[in-house]
Amino acid sequence: MMVSPESPRDARKGDSRQGDPLKGSSSLRSYRARSAIGTGLACRCPRCGEGRLFAGFLTVAPRCAVCDLDLGKQDSGDGPAVFIIFILGAIVVPLVFWFEFAYEPPFWLHMVIWIPVILGGALLLLRPMKGVMIALQYRNKASDSGTVDYD
Ligand SMILES: [Zn+2]
Repeated sequence: MMVSPESPRDARKGDSRQGDPLKGSSSLRSYRARSAIGTGLACRCPRCGEGRLFAGFLTVAPRCAVCDLDLGKQDSGDGPAVFIIFILGAIVVPLVFWFEFAYEPPFWLHMVIWIPVILGGALLLLRPMKGVMIALQYRNKASDSGTVDYD
């Protein structure tokens, strides 16, 4: 008598579903109520939205002090820099052209104005953009962030 090959597979699927731990479900529920972008911009933990994400200026804390999420496996890569390039470029480049054509300033004045604007803007945006990237990776279970072992 042949046994249907799907029976053991179905049983395994059922086991794996039942085996999913529901630990931290209250934390997950409270996280889902928050916006990933808002949590990231506030530089807070992507799961609970309360613990500090950073231990230094750009150094991510090893664990969340509130929900104990292991933050050491996150990897935002070049994502924050790309956000900043697009945002600052979209703002600064039109301003530079407008300033040039409206006032025809000397070249040194462009340097004096735009270098601090670009550097300051990039430094101001780095932390929130990195926070948004980490929160979005966590929320969307991005494989690059190592989400399998991340939660
Ligand atoms: Zn947390």
